[in-house]
Amino acid sequence: MAMVDVEIEGGGIFGLSVAFACARRGAHVRLHERRRIGAGASGGVVGALAPHAPDAWNEKKQFQLESLAMAPAFWAQVAELSGLDPGYARLGRLMPLATERAVALARGRIAEAERNWRGIARWSVVDTAAPWKLDSPTGYHVSETLSARLHPRAALKALAAAARALGAEIEEGATRPVGRGRAVVEATGWEGLVALGQETGVEVGSGVKGQAALLRADFRRRPQLFVDGLHIVPHADGTTAIGSTSERSFAHPDATDAALDELLERARRICPELASVPVIGRWAGVRPRAATRAPLLGPHPRENGRFIANGGFKIGFGVAPLVGEVMADLVLEGRAERIPDAFRTERLFAG
Ligand SMILES: Cc1cc2nc3c(=O)[nH]c(=O)nc-3n(C[C@H](O)[C@H](O)[C@H](O)COP(=O)(O)OP(=O)(O)OC[C@H]3O[C@@H](n4cnc5c(N)ncnc54)[C@H](O)[C@@H]3O)c2cc1C
Repeated sequence: MAMVDVEIEGGGIFGLSVAFACARRGAHVRLHERRRIGAGASGGVVGALAPHAPDAWNEKKQFQLESLAMAPAFWAQVAELSGLDPGYARLGRLMPLATERAVALARGRIAEAERNWRGIARWSVVDTAAPWKLDSPTGYHVSETLSARLHPRAALKALAAAARALGAEIEEGATRPVGRGRAVVEATGWEGLVALGQETGVEVGSGVKGQAALLRADFRRRPQLFVDGLHIVPHADGTTAIGSTSERSFAHPDATDAALDELLERARRICPELASVPVIGRWAGVRPRAATRAPLLGPHPRENGRFIANGGFKIGFGVAPLVGEVMADLVLEGRAERIPDAFRTERLFAG
């Protein structure tokens, strides 16, 4: 078999984004997914591309902002090359404000958003949640225009097809062992973090389980909601996702349970319009959480020619377009200047 330029392990959003970025630059790419595309955390239903708060600015927030700003063109190109709809739309987000203190904090963030979001999006405090029928104890809500949504499963399918359209080879199931690439990128999700920790004896990261549900509720033109840690995300196909639990210890990575029932009850209390709509899907997955709580990008600590793209944790889909680009810089051109210091593998393995 011919030597390829880049071999990628893992067919989640990180592996596929790296494959796409490298193929777009003309590299010969082969991706190996040991189960099937979307078998890991990326195969879920939520798909909120939502920013962190605009204050206390840092390089992680800056990276996320740049990636969210890239998203419309990125997903439009994916749709065009694949002929498939990733379900992307930038419709913003509403967040009810429960206390006067929260209102004051949110108002303080208006100027921070102007400064740090640099005109890319607006953060404001509004006195209506229309068209949603939502209670806010204060009568006020944050409205921000940076958040977008996509449908994770549809987006993965489209991204894989787009990468293939650019010549990338994608293999699913038990396939040939890797090792015929000039460069190998491990994008193997939480299992990869655990394995890397065992291999190196360094506390690299672990998995945090999440459960989410999909409802038959057609709010496709509405902004998503973020209330009390809960995402309510309307999709283009007439469904609405509710997510997610956050579980540091778990026995069954793929199983849903009473914690999801409790989440659904909370969502219905918050948003009475969801009270009588049917649940059409229940899903659980495990997020890759690096010990740094930031994405983990860079060279493998032990092996030349091997690289790591992992640690997407709760924002993997939002940062993926730029993760693909900076990994392509590194793997194809040996350039790391666009990888924030806080994300670099060298930082974790120094000392
Ligand atoms: C309930 C829940 C809700 C979420 N909601 C959001 C959200 O709204 N917005 C957002 O941005 N993010 C969200 N996330 C986080 C997001 O899903 C993750 O950050 C992202 O999917 C991580 O992508 P990944 O490609 O690194 O990992 P994964 O998607 O887990 O992919 C890793 C892949 O590697 C494969 N693999 C493992 N070992 C090997 C090997 N040795 N060889 C080949 N293949 C291998 C696995 O089978 C898997 O398919 C959510 C996660 C969960 C669980």
